[in-house]
Amino acid sequence: MSAPAAGTAAPAGVWADVVGQDAAVAQFRRAASPEGSLAQAWLITGPPGSGRSTAARAFAATLQCEQGTGCGRCTACRTTLASTHPDVTVVATDKLSIAKEEVRSLVMTAQRAPATGRHRVLIVEDADRMSAGTFNVLLKSIEEPPPSTVWMLCAPSAEDLAPTIRSRCRQVTLSIPSAAVVAELLRRRDGVDEQLAIRAARAAQGHIGLALRYATQEGALAAREESARTLLSLRGAGQAVLAAQSLLDRATAEAKEHADLVAAEEKERFLRSAGIEDGKVPPALRSQLRQLEEDAKRRQTRLVRDVLDRYLLDVHSVLRDVLSRQLGAQSELVNVDVSREIDEVAGAGSAHVTLDLLEAVQEARRRIAGNVPPLLAIEALLARIALSLR
Ligand SMILES: [Zn+2]
Repeated sequence: MSAPAAGTAAPAGVWADVVGQDAAVAQFRRAASPEGSLAQAWLITGPPGSGRSTAARAFAATLQCEQGTGCGRCTACRTTLASTHPDVTVVATDKLSIAKEEVRSLVMTAQRAPATGRHRVLIVEDADRMSAGTFNVLLKSIEEPPPSTVWMLCAPSAEDLAPTIRSRCRQVTLSIPSAAVVAELLRRRDGVDEQLAIRAARAAQGHIGLALRYATQEGALAAREESARTLLSLRGAGQAVLAAQSLLDRATAEAKEHADLVAAEEKERFLRSAGIEDGKVPPALRSQLRQLEEDAKRRQTRLVRDVLDRYLLDVHSVLRDVLSRQLGAQSELVNVDVSREIDEVAGAGSAHVTLDLLEAVQEARRRIAGNVPPLLAIEALLARIALSLR
């Protein structure tokens, strides 16, 4: 048994993987205890990668646990965590929005009494991806759920949900877990080597899934380091234009790879459920299959933006490191692997220029989220960085 990270209790039962969230975990456990008052609608918020859906599953497992404690060993705990418990329904989506029909069927499920557990639990992982009309479908069920039904909605922030919905939920907010806590999780849960775990956790800036990717995917950390180095050596608008194109190409390739994988799995599942083994799709099913493929394309567009946003957060972290050196802060750099280049750039420039650049990164992120063509936004940003760092 390894020692837990300083300042945190030893992980226990179903909560073992919900790291760096002591306050939230205490709140969930209190609500699930016999003395607690269990709200029937919960809103779990926190930045991407902070573990919202992991926390929701752990909470659901605690509610279903045969010991009533979230022991992590009984059948109810184990099946809930593995998403196979008959009374726990999880809705996750890679799509731009959750379809109204999907929520309608969820609301019907919510009306049913639990089959084996003490509660019927419905977890919506991306509750922010609902249209106003879809929120309305959900509203009634959240207002007056059957006595044993518990809703758990996950979203980046409360503002992402319609006010009518969020006012009916009890809110729990997750914080960004520290690099030390994330590294400890990678070591314990995924068997990642200690040094690598720390590097990956630091680079991921508190995003648990990303940290795991950095730690396990060949070349991912090196590619990130290479981009940081390119950024710090940008000189002139010409280089910036080239770098912007290459950034976009990389994001597109990464998004496509992921989207293709998911699309292939979906298609296979579709064919299998339709009993088609020779790949010959009868005319009656062709439009459904086409719909599936169109969904996959739409998803890819969103993914490109998500990946780009992550790259921009990386750019932000490099500039923040530069700023922290310029201000003489003694804190550990996020991008330790390029500390020499960071020191050079910091020495040649001034803090207020760096502050302006940090704001420019946020502006570029807002523009891309607001549907400005990504290449334009990134070119403008990198050109500005190149000229300012010269
Ligand atoms: Zn249990």
